[in-house]
Amino acid sequence: MKKWKFPSLNIFIFVFILLLTLNLVCLVCVNGNEIFSYNKRYQNNTQFHYYDKNGNVLLQYDFIFKRLIEEYGDYTPSKITILKVNSTFGESRFNPQDASVIISNHLSSTDLTRTIAHESAHLCNYNLSNGANILTQFRFIDEGYANIIGNLVVDSEKEYYKSAMGIATVQKRNNNISLDKVQAWNSYGGGLENRKFYAYPVGSSFDYFIINKYSKEKFYLFFKDLGVSKNLEISIQNVFSKSIKIIESEWLESLNVVDIFAPKVIEMFPLNNLLNVDPNIKEIFVKFNVDMNSSICVGTNCEEGICYKNAYWKSKKILAIRIDSILLPNHSYKLSLGYKDKCRLISNYGEELPLMNWEFQTK
Ligand SMILES: [Zn+2]
Repeated sequence: MKKWKFPSLNIFIFVFILLLTLNLVCLVCVNGNEIFSYNKRYQNNTQFHYYDKNGNVLLQYDFIFKRLIEEYGDYTPSKITILKVNSTFGESRFNPQDASVIISNHLSSTDLTRTIAHESAHLCNYNLSNGANILTQFRFIDEGYANIIGNLVVDSEKEYYKSAMGIATVQKRNNNISLDKVQAWNSYGGGLENRKFYAYPVGSSFDYFIINKYSKEKFYLFFKDLGVSKNLEISIQNVFSKSIKIIESEWLESLNVVDIFAPKVIEMFPLNNLLNVDPNIKEIFVKFNVDMNSSICVGTNCEEGICYKNAYWKSKKILAIRIDSILLPNHSYKLSLGYKDKCRLISNYGEELPLMNWEFQTK
């Protein structure tokens, strides 16, 4: 009779390794399945809302979605795809057919967030208005509100309100604002070609007027009603029980909440007509009494060492031009703020600085 013998340690080690190996293989199986099923859950779970073109969750933008839900509730699409593109003019757009936003690659982080929110707001506006937001005659309401939402999301809405109301007030002074004009959105400057800086803010000023004088609920009702009537006059009557003329004049009356001061130069270096200017100066500048629009329009002769290409906004009130080389000695420099027949420097609210010559002589 054979005596039972305790198996050798080698066999124990062998079996242990075998089990461990099997277990490891099994662990990989489970993990693999887990990863797969999590992915599936993400796809179907309304807890996450922004995705890239491959269907990956973009968690970092989910806070935008929470803001949209607060504003639009059920009119917010449950899933939005963000597609990044190299667009020619840096423009972004939206596609309601597949609830995607097509975002330019050339945006800084704040601008990127604001733009994703802006384009997402269009998708919500589309659902709210049954697609009426993309009709040319209602684009001023749509773009105006998308701008408001974009600024709400990046916490610059208070500043934007002031800016939009100021810009619209200046357009009113210039007799460039009416419901007829803004409904012809492309010729008003809201279209992609020949876009004017004031078009979107003027659209916002109309939305702000409705929200402030009536209520946000009325604004949403109105936008929704446009989706049924497809007619501004009828929806105004339906929702506000007023004629389109009355609403238009109320809107124009509302454009007086911002103090507008014409832009003026209050300081400059070198002073206009100054003689004996040091040719070694590294920068020249002008300071304005009011915040200015970030566009730059100056006349220079680059071959003489001062070039418009080196102009930049040092602050909202100070426009400077860097000088990379030593200036020509004993030379009369002739520059202009604004450029004849081309463009003008404008204030934050869009008031033009009259064309102004800037001359000085080096020693
Ligand atoms: Zn837009």
